[in-house]
Amino acid sequence: MGVADLPARLTYNARLAPETPMLDQALRILKDVFGYDAFRGNQAAIIDRVASGGDALVLMPTGGGKSLCFQVPALLRDGLTVVVSPLIALMDDQVATLDELGVAAVALNSTLTAEAQREIADRLRQGEIKLLYLAPERLVQPRMLAFLQRLPIGLFAIDEAHCVSQWGHDFRPEYLQLGQLAELFPNVPRVALTATADMRTREEMVQRLHLQNAERFLSSFDRPNIFYRIVAKDQPRKQLLGFLAERRGDAGIVYCMSRKKVEEVAAFLSDQGFPALPYHAGLSNDLRAHNQKRFLNEEGLIMVATIAFGMGIDKPNVRFVAHLDLPKSLEAYYQETGRAGRDGLPADAWMAYGLQDVLLLKQMLSNSEGDERHKRIEQHKLDAMLSLCEETRCRRQALLTYFDEELLQPCGHCDICTDGVQTWDATEPARLALSAIHRSGQRYGVGHLVDLLLGRDNEKVRASGHQHLSVFGKGKNLSEADWRTLYRQLVARGLADVDLEGFGGLRLTEACRPLLRGEVSLELRRDLSTKAPKPAASAASQLVRGEEREQWEALRTLRRKLAEEHSVPPYVIFPDATLLEMLRSKPRSLSEMAQVSGVGARKLERYGEAFLEVLNGAGEAPRAVADLRHELVSLARAGMTPAQIARQLECSEKNVYSLLAETIGNQQLSLEQALDLPEDLLGEIQDAFLDGEGELPPVAQIAELFAGRVPDGVLHCVRAALAAEFEA
Ligand code: ADP
Ligand code: ZN
Repeated sequence: MGVADLPARLTYNARLAPETPMLDQALRILKDVFGYDAFRGNQAAIIDRVASGGDALVLMPTGGGKSLCFQVPALLRDGLTVVVSPLIALMDDQVATLDELGVAAVALNSTLTAEAQREIADRLRQGEIKLLYLAPERLVQPRMLAFLQRLPIGLFAIDEAHCVSQWGHDFRPEYLQLGQLAELFPNVPRVALTATADMRTREEMVQRLHLQNAERFLSSFDRPNIFYRIVAKDQPRKQLLGFLAERRGDAGIVYCMSRKKVEEVAAFLSDQGFPALPYHAGLSNDLRAHNQKRFLNEEGLIMVATIAFGMGIDKPNVRFVAHLDLPKSLEAYYQETGRAGRDGLPADAWMAYGLQDVLLLKQMLSNSEGDERHKRIEQHKLDAMLSLCEETRCRRQALLTYFDEELLQPCGHCDICTDGVQTWDATEPARLALSAIHRSGQRYGVGHLVDLLLGRDNEKVRASGHQHLSVFGKGKNLSEADWRTLYRQLVARGLADVDLEGFGGLRLTEACRPLLRGEVSLELRRDLSTKAPKPAASAASQLVRGEEREQWEALRTLRRKLAEEHSVPPYVIFPDATLLEMLRSKPRSLSEMAQVSGVGARKLERYGEAFLEVLNGAGEAPRAVADLRHELVSLARAGMTPAQIARQLECSEKNVYSLLAETIGNQQLSLEQALDLPEDLLGEIQDAFLDGEGELPPVAQIAELFAGRVPDGVLHCVRAALAAEFEA
């Protein structure tokens, strides 16, 4: 489809009713175009600011709804909105979504032929396009800037604005040049958006993008729909299978540190009957693109990936993110887990973590390039990550505290809140464990240290003569697993460290002295034994249950079929949240369907009937006139044109007009809801009716004036509106 299908309503909505406050108009667009009933969080304030021409800096977590913050203003403002986005995949996704909503949006990128680019340029000149997506490098080309300067630009939106920061992981040098927009387009408002919130990045965005006058909108970075769980790594693959068993059919990401492990785990999962694909930087571009595309377009696929799989992932219904290896900072953990549950439905962040992770990361850190200061910063970041793993408070509270946000109450939606945590006084065993390190010369790994404590008389022990150490066999009151956990926790808390110059054995740190000297005690959390009763399945797997399952699958099948027909990902047809609401609210008519959140006018027209059939079983009962009228009102309110309504209700357009006039007459509908009339034409018709004295003339009397220009039905509607006004 193309711009030709764009409902004219969108473009002159604002002009039809200039006295309507901005936010009322915004709400109308939200409902008509996007099918949603209310703004979330800061959306309304942001849209108000931007649509009325102010600059804004928007910091909102993933899934918070950033796109609407510039898409709605784009429809409210005159002229073209230019959206800067760093990745083709992100652009294509948004354009496809807007396209499905009937909004004229295009992406200009290098994959297009010269011919296609020329065509887009033409349409831009004609003013047929509302949103233009561009990569930054393309936008800042002098030719492009000159081209844009000749167009009426209504707004610049800079998505993923943290890419301008050199400290972030997504730095894109081209973003630095976006600062010039302020000078080149001094009268065009700019909105910059990101899900990265740290202060430093924030200030850099303001400086470099010249957003000193931007109002700042900072949202909470909590992701309430994500359930956090971190388990001690024991048999990671088995643990992963256990986690996945309750999530069959869900899409998710499994992060691993190395390429090799990615390949292995993907193969392993496939063997176990979980459809899984690998993704890492070592694969060819083609294969990577292919796998990514499948992940987006198919349902229930698991992507096993290194962190190379990242920013381009806009898939809203990723139901879980699992980590088989430890991320190197809380920033990374937050970002990676944040890819789950973008659609706001329940999602899981699950991680298995063990001593080997810590050792490996420390090793990588010490081998990394960079000066001492840099390494110290990285070390602090890793420590923060480790302390989340060993946390005894609510995980969410801990996580948000790290990002300078305060959550007053424990969240009730993480493993610690739901399962509780047991702590124990580990002072004495910790001293013993540390002294085993000390006495054996600070050069042995955990395996040997545990053998010592348990008094195992093996070759290595004998070879080193360690059976004579005073600590030998002193730790028999704890199990091997307990000792391993204890060592992991000592390292995580910085009481012991890995000797990376030597043989990678454990050694003592300064921090452990007070404990060894008996000046402090040590409280540690107990790992949940794997034998402990299995914790209740988290919310995600409870999304759809029992008898609903069948219908849910039927809805998904239909969505898949439509998605294939339109060559878009399924979530572009309807997000899961919308399907779920259909499942729960069981709409029985198109008008009820129009009430479902996420069903806008365009989608109602295109898909409403098909989904109703699935929901209500095929054949529908014949409709009564009252029903018909009721339905007509909803369809008109949802933004359908009379022609669309006629098709939808399977009756003649003439019939629709007369019903519209009737409902306008009894004020169930306003004229603007019923019709899209250019302002001057409307004025002309009104003048014709009001020309004479006294009573309004009948339609027949003025019909000739407008013959061939508008259907008579339109005149009936305008007359009905005038009549209603006079009566009032
Ligand atoms: P972000 O870019 O901040 O990660 P998106 O713009 O992709 O978030 O929005 C996330 C999801 O939430 C999308 O499916 C979007 O349609 C939905 N959404 C956004 N705003 C609203 C709203 N006001 N009401 C209902 N759903 C919304
Ligand atoms: Zn919690």
